[in-house]
Amino acid sequence: MEIPHKVRMGGHTITVVMDPKLAQTEDAVGLYEHERLRIRVQSDMLQTLKEEVFIHELVEAACVFGEIELDHSQLQTLAVHLHQALTSSEGSS
Ligand SMILES: [Zn+2]
Repeated sequence: MEIPHKVRMGGHTITVVMDPKLAQTEDAVGLYEHERLRIRVQSDMLQTLKEEVFIHELVEAACVFGEIELDHSQLQTLAVHLHQALTSSEGSS
């Protein structure tokens, strides 16, 4: 799947940036910064890992907007399944 540069959520626009130094500076491969409406993804990973991290951070953002409290393993389970659904679907209806 193609990771977008911008994604709309709830009337807001979240910017998505690839960051080659994220893991060094933040000790994470993905980050959602609500105050900046920005998702950062470590850039030097395999494509499918970047996709999964992007979707994970998207779910993080949705939880912030929705004031939904999931523990991290629930959130990651959602992200893994959404990633598979979005990358294994065929055709269009
Ligand atoms: Zn997370």
